[in-house]
Amino acid sequence: KAPLLDVNCLSVDYGLKGVSLRAIDRVSFALQAGEAVGLVGESGSGKTTTAMAIAGLLSPNARVSSGEVRYRGSRLPIDDDAAMRPHRWCETSVVFQGAMNALNPVHRIIKQIAEPCMLKLGMSRGEATARARELLGLVGIPTDRGSAYPHELSGGMRQRVMIAMALACRPSIVIGDEPTTALDVITQAQILKLLGELRSRLSLALILITHDLSVVAECCDRVMIMYAGRIVEDGTVAEIFAQPKHPYTRLLIESIPNPASGKKMIRPIPGDPPNLVNRPSGCAFHPRCPSAMGVCGTEVPSLDQFGRGRVACHLHRSSRGDKVAVHA
Ligand code: SF4
Repeated sequence: KAPLLDVNCLSVDYGLKGVSLRAIDRVSFALQAGEAVGLVGESGSGKTTTAMAIAGLLSPNARVSSGEVRYRGSRLPIDDDAAMRPHRWCETSVVFQGAMNALNPVHRIIKQIAEPCMLKLGMSRGEATARARELLGLVGIPTDRGSAYPHELSGGMRQRVMIAMALACRPSIVIGDEPTTALDVITQAQILKLLGELRSRLSLALILITHDLSVVAECCDRVMIMYAGRIVEDGTVAEIFAQPKHPYTRLLIESIPNPASGKKMIRPIPGDPPNLVNRPSGCAFHPRCPSAMGVCGTEVPSLDQFGRGRVACHLHRSSRGDKVAVHA
């Protein structure tokens, strides 16, 4: 089946004080309509850059140095701000984290939800307000709360407003950029449940950016693990949790507290998150990897098919170059 979104060998560099930093390196994946994928990694892993490139929201100092993004088979002009304008929010939209900063404090929420309908869909004020009311209902906010200002709402309600705004132009892909990070555990669960319900009700594809694998387990079909700008493992949630192939994925899973098994303490991954200025040679994870071998410091492992998923690790490579299972 032709994918809804096709990201092919995408590399993005940032220019910082005369230095060029590679934020993502030859990232490739396909997203099917209605699929929910988690993009997981520590800060500096490239997950946000990948998502912003897809949404056409790269910062002005970013440069697409290789690759392309195709939406329904057509190449998106992701490095051309003006050409990207008609695509933005209408095909792929973003629910940002920290709704208090993203919402305008001096405008009522109904107006903020109606605005993209007028700007992007050419609706009159009356039509846009009616659509905004409909969107409030969709995200579980009583319509009489539409006249509230952002500071009059709870954090969870504000995040629902952000979701309503993201849905305003009927996109087929919604990206959640750490959408529950600032929320308490109960509200976080409610927002994830809402995203799951909206996904099936509106047949949305979902890309969930997070550093927290347990969030992905809640509402994704598939997970891609990123490290130092590259995808290092890609597979179904069930497979990755049952049998992680990459040592980094394994450590991420082990770092999730599990009170049911008496494991209440978080075991952090040793070492520091990847440094893009001084990227380690070979496999970028090798300074932190408990399974590192000689080859790991010199050769970058390619991301190869492994079973139904993909993995980039020398542990799973035979001398013939085929992928083999090694239990490290
Ligand atoms: Fe560890 Fe080597 Fe695999 Fe990298 S390639 S994750 S260093 S075993």
